[in-house]
Amino acid sequence: MSNKILIVGAGIGGLSATIALGLANKSVSIIEQSSQLGEVGAGVQLGPNVTKILKRWGVDQALEAYAFEPNCLEVYGAKSGKLLANLPLGQSFRTRYGSPYLTVHRADLHALLLSSVKKHGYADIHLNQRVHDVQNGPDAVQVKVQSQGQGQGVDPVPSPIIEDYEALIGADGVWSRVRDVLFTSNPAQFGSNAVSFSGDLAYRSLVLQKLLPPHLRTFAVKVWLGPDMHLVQYPIRRGEWLNSVLILSPSQHLRARDAVPKDVLSALDWTINMSQDQKALNIQSILHQTCPIVQDTLRAIETWNVWPLMKSEPLSSSSQMAKGRVGLLGDAAHPMLPYLAQGAGMAIEDAFELGEQFNGKTNSARPYCVQNILAGYAAKRWARSAEVQKRALLNADIFHANHALAWARDRSLQLFGPKLLDMPWLYGYQS
Ligand SMILES: Cc1cc2nc3c(=O)[nH]c(=O)nc-3n(C[C@H](O)[C@H](O)[C@H](O)COP(=O)(O)OP(=O)(O)OC[C@H]3O[C@@H](n4cnc5c(N)ncnc54)[C@H](O)[C@@H]3O)c2cc1C
Repeated sequence: MSNKILIVGAGIGGLSATIALGLANKSVSIIEQSSQLGEVGAGVQLGPNVTKILKRWGVDQALEAYAFEPNCLEVYGAKSGKLLANLPLGQSFRTRYGSPYLTVHRADLHALLLSSVKKHGYADIHLNQRVHDVQNGPDAVQVKVQSQGQGQGVDPVPSPIIEDYEALIGADGVWSRVRDVLFTSNPAQFGSNAVSFSGDLAYRSLVLQKLLPPHLRTFAVKVWLGPDMHLVQYPIRRGEWLNSVLILSPSQHLRARDAVPKDVLSALDWTINMSQDQKALNIQSILHQTCPIVQDTLRAIETWNVWPLMKSEPLSSSSQMAKGRVGLLGDAAHPMLPYLAQGAGMAIEDAFELGEQFNGKTNSARPYCVQNILAGYAAKRWARSAEVQKRALLNADIFHANHALAWARDRSLQLFGPKLLDMPWLYGYQS
């Protein structure tokens, strides 16, 4: 049996796991289905719980050179335009949590993680390979891998490559094949964790701040809460670019019925153009319900990429994150709505804990046993990941509230804003 650990997926989670395992002196291979390494999408917010880990991995200086450190988080009413609450970030967060709150382009974060993997030779990376079957045996994990692009057209489908590994980490995202093969066969155990479309669509855009009129530029994280919608904006790339994410509940995008694709999954990477595309009706339809600054923002941004948001029931036991020689990590383990901005953060925390368990810091008294290490990893991670999944689901209702609930939310934010927005249980996490 090979003494290598296989990581399936080279996203932010898979590369983070590679760094953590590399630092624990484990030998790692990565299999990635795409032909190129990289990230789609736009910005991500990284709380101090995450930047602290990136510092431990030695990528903090490079990160800070690309990222932006917003001075505060501001929450506004999308209808009234009124400032409801303000939480200082910047130096205040550094002092409070010992690490900064940063916003970064996900491609930059991915590139930094990848360059660390390459610089230290933490893994051999195999592109264009898709894992399609996994056997979780007592002595080894066996995977069947199909080369992508083969077997198309008139060519016969080639036999899959079969390899043995000491352990396998499924970091293969929200549609995880590893989870489907090994963790969903017993519906009583994992059935409730099935992934489904939440009904919400995220419209993402990136624009150069200098191309926007001065009153639409921002150096804070700004959140606009409205009925069945919210808009989040923050700068990335040293503040030069403005990242915007507009999220609409079904009632909003169903106003423009024809604008929603029949098969919502085909909305992946669906680009709309505000001035030319009929589909922009989705966004146009909410203009009349928002304040002038939100209207100006939506009109000023020409191109949006639409992303359907997936959700699953929160984890309910550690056996949903590890079984025998196989562990799940990141979105593969705990798909979550982006209403707490922590999906990538949880993948990075998972990876850190995985490294800690392999390092033997927390179980040094025991003899080396990969099944125990993975069980220890899952035991440490499942409840926290479940809590973050739950809060993200709850935020979906609060952010998009209507009528009395919206009034109560706004009043609470006005009275207790900083207390509600600061989350020591989340940002002050210690492994
Ligand atoms: C609108 C939006 C905003 C967000 N904002 C934030 C934020 O502010 N902060 C934050 O922390 N998170 C945020 N997130 C969440 C974050 O983007 C994800 O949680 C994170 O990127 C998941 O990383 P991952 O590595 O687990 O999965 P992925 O990034 O999905 O990576 C999985 C990889 O596995 C590969 N793969 C899949 N199947 C196979 C297979 N069978 N064989 C081989 N390879 C395979 C894929 O090609 C891919 O490269 C946001 C998400 C959305 C949608």
